[in-house]
Amino acid sequence: AKKSGKNRHAWFDASMERDLQARNELESGLRVAIPRHQIVPYFEQQVELGSGKLTGFEVLARWEHPTRGLISPEAFIPIAEETGMIADLSLSVMHQAFTAARDWDPGLIISINISPWQLRDAWLAQKIIKVLTETGFPARRCEIEITETALFDNLALAQSIVGSLKNQGVRLALDDFGTGYSSLAHLRALPFDRIKIDKSFVTSLIESADSAAIVGAIARLGESLNLPVTAEGVEDAEIEQRLTAIGVSKGQGWYYGKPLSVAGARRLLAERRLI
Ligand code: C2E
Ligand code: CA
Ligand code: CA
Ligand code: CA
Repeated sequence: AKKSGKNRHAWFDASMERDLQARNELESGLRVAIPRHQIVPYFEQQVELGSGKLTGFEVLARWEHPTRGLISPEAFIPIAEETGMIADLSLSVMHQAFTAARDWDPGLIISINISPWQLRDAWLAQKIIKVLTETGFPARRCEIEITETALFDNLALAQSIVGSLKNQGVRLALDDFGTGYSSLAHLRALPFDRIKIDKSFVTSLIESADSAAIVGAIARLGESLNLPVTAEGVEDAEIEQRLTAIGVSKGQGWYYGKPLSVAGARRLLAERRLI
């Protein structure tokens, strides 16, 4: 039976109100969680395909909520961006990650996600360099991952920020390549050192001929531009094998393990004599 318009409305309003309330709770929670260092770095292994050698970690933010457990960045990064809290959040996560990683094996690269929103801050490079100095973490062991979206409305600023960081030895990766957010034109706009293939193509590599063709094309593009390629979303041995055959140099994903806490990463490194 068809519901009366009035009832449908009442139900819809109630659910929207719940969404809005949940969002507001996350926002006010986030405001105190950042200074209390409850937004913490988790570490996802990055490996050299073929040898299986650990080359470093991608840092992924997690909210260690006192009552709700771990909250995913998909739930709070957009709120942090809308409210401008992303700047403090990002510097706090970076500070914790570099502090943890400074006495790990010096061969390990630490990759940090920078949101396009942050590339509008003229002081971003100075702020990142300050965190590197404070923590004593060498710039050449740091890689910045950028997914471009709104970068082109201030390309000159993004170029100058990236230029200052690269002068210090920081590396630059283009994240989520192949999606609507990162395309061919962006490759030339900034001095990237690496391309990361979006996980959507990698997880579907075996079932989808289209995905396989796209991954192959990105690998060849990387070869001709002399940019090494990392595949994210490596979920099993079959995908790893296929990527190796295609010529992708690095991989990361659940096949190598879920992202680790600082303590978890330390345990892994101790087992492998990398700490
Ligand atoms: P991303 O940078 O593309 O990160 C990769 C995401 O894929 C991570 O989700 C990771 O946990 C997940 N993943 C890893 N391996 C696999 C796999 O084998 N299969 C599948 N299906 N997924 C896998 P996560 O940690 O939930 O992060 C989501 C997004 O949140 C990130 O996407 C990134 O855009 C953003 N993010 C996370 N941490 C930060 C941060 O500190 N700063 C900023 N600005 N953004 C962050
Ligand atoms: Ca990333
Ligand atoms: Ca990515
Ligand atoms: Ca992504």
